[in-house]
Amino acid sequence: MSRSRPPVVLKFGGASLEDPAHVAEDVRAVRAEGVPVVVVASAREGVTDLLTAALGHPRSRSQHRAAIAEVRRRHPGLPLAGRRHLDRLARLLTWVERTPGRDPALADRVLSQGERLAVHWLSARLAEEGLRAAPVEADHLGLITDNAYGASCLLLDRSRPAVRRGIGRLLASGKLPVVTGYFGRSLEGRVATLGRGGSDYAAAGLGALLGASRVELVKRHVAVLSADPREVPDARPIPELSYEEAEELAQFGARVLHPLTIEPARAYGITLRVRSLDDPRVVTTIAPPRAGRRNRALTILRPLRLLRLRVPGGRQRPGIVAEVSERLSAARVNLVQIYTSSALLCLVLEPTQVLPAIRALAPVTRDAAAMLDGPYRVAIVTAIGDGVLDDLARVPGSVVRGAEGFSATPRALSIAVPLAHGSRVLRELHRALVRGGTA
Ligand code: ASP
Ligand code: MG
Repeated sequence: MSRSRPPVVLKFGGASLEDPAHVAEDVRAVRAEGVPVVVVASAREGVTDLLTAALGHPRSRSQHRAAIAEVRRRHPGLPLAGRRHLDRLARLLTWVERTPGRDPALADRVLSQGERLAVHWLSARLAEEGLRAAPVEADHLGLITDNAYGASCLLLDRSRPAVRRGIGRLLASGKLPVVTGYFGRSLEGRVATLGRGGSDYAAAGLGALLGASRVELVKRHVAVLSADPREVPDARPIPELSYEEAEELAQFGARVLHPLTIEPARAYGITLRVRSLDDPRVVTTIAPPRAGRRNRALTILRPLRLLRLRVPGGRQRPGIVAEVSERLSAARVNLVQIYTSSALLCLVLEPTQVLPAIRALAPVTRDAAAMLDGPYRVAIVTAIGDGVLDDLARVPGSVVRGAEGFSATPRALSIAVPLAHGSRVLRELHRALVRGGTA
């Protein structure tokens, strides 16, 4: 691979696979630059949801049968290797029916079938369009992950030799590798998924491993906008983001990117492009920051719950913050956000985490005479962009009034507001920071 030009990785999301002729055209357009192309594919639209729903009813044979029939229907014209994966899916679901309790690694095997079917289906369609497509399943290729089934992380150093060898061989023989997104092979040798939306992350990881000149995440209609257009009708496209801005955006709930996608790109200095298959003008480039650029994007996380922990004499009690976070992490409670003053800690959590959090904190409230109140129903509205702290003076009073917490770094301003005010605050903050106050 080292002798040829660095490849471009094109990742197609589920919805963009609907039109394989369009995918083929897209691949050809990039190849026309004289660069090799590697395709990464998600499952076809709705398939991962179907599989997730089937796993949600582990005993229901009839539901599993219906799911298999529906998955089959969504992959017409599967070649033999693909049809074998349908049979395997049926066997795996029978296994799920017989397994007591939930086995996360077995669930990941089931979920991975969506991407396997997609690459066999897509390769056959691309072959019909005259491309020499070769389906590649990432676990067989040697894309290695840790053992955190359902939310695993890529281990790039361990994956490098096998991935470069395998893809290099295909490219050298003029083939178009079509690689599964979403999963790899764990250190224990089992299938491990990267979490929902993980195909972006897989594509960025493959790009890093292959020394790609860029990784393009091709979506059907979605683009990176200054806010969710369903909430903010005048949201506008963002042409460029720094890695750090994109990372904050993904973490604070913009669903266009899997939160870990940026990591491999940043570590290896690879440019990411998020673009729309339907409208070539809608492109967001994610790369190192450039001077003089001002991006602002707004996100909202909800529904969330806020617990207030009041610790009398808090400042004088060494280690109270550490104790709270240790107890929560021992109980595997994930904190979305924490706001602190001297005697008050405001903990923001997913609704399902409230009871485990209250239980985990019982010893603190007993021994430290601390008091816990809530849960309060909140949303977190965040404004993201390099230098966003400079915008503080522009934040209207109506946004801050009644807020439950506030945090700020030079890259993200976030406000916890009562849940019922979330949409309004999002729109007002968008108007103030993105549209510069114009109505
Ligand atoms: N198919 C997986 C999902 O829907 C991965 C992806 O689409 O990125 O979450
Ligand atoms: Mg998907």
